Amino acid sequence: MNGIEQLCPNCGLCCNGVLFADVELRKGDDIQRLDELGLSLEKKGRKQAFAQPCTCFDGKLCRIYNERPTRCRTFECGLLKRVQMGEMGADAALKTIAEAQRLAEKVRGQLRRLGQSDEQLALNRRYAQVMREPIDLSGPEDAAELRGELMLAVNDLMQMLRQDFLK
Ligand code: SF4
Ligand code: SF4
Repeated sequence: MNGIEQLCPNCGLCCNGVLFADVELRKGDDIQRLDELGLSLEKKGRKQAFAQPCTCFDGKLCRIYNERPTRCRTFECGLLKRVQMGEMGADAALKTIAEAQRLAEKVRGQLRRLGQSDEQLALNRRYAQVMREPIDLSGPEDAAELRGELMLAVNDLMQMLRQDFLK
């Protein structure tokens, strides 16, 4: 098994809205075909992009793997690169993935407690939405304290993503 087969079906962080909020299409991508395949394309400035969580992600695998866009074909996270180059074992990488998923789930839980339960939106957009709202001091729980906990959880997750996946 290669690194992709070992890691990616157990991860999905680059498809499920944790690592990225959207993905831009590249020159040569067939917009019409990708639309037919079910990607939710939208204009992003002069480019076409699709939002994450990706509509073609089934929770484990890419439903359009053989026809996926260029950016998806060419992207390899730092963790995968290290495994491919033999700098890291698959077991250690899988542990890192599990920890990143735990941190992402912690953030999701805190977003839900703060009333943001839109699982169709990328994690950083959900976070931004919550932080934009004025604090409701009449809420059932201490909203300011919950926000503080959310900020810490997001910080932990971002640190890990930057260190292990994005470099
Ligand atoms: S973040 Fe890395 S390990 Fe996870 S699915 Fe994407 S490429 Fe694979
Ligand atoms: S098209 Fe496939 S590889 Fe690309 S983000 Fe969507 S599920 Fe992931």
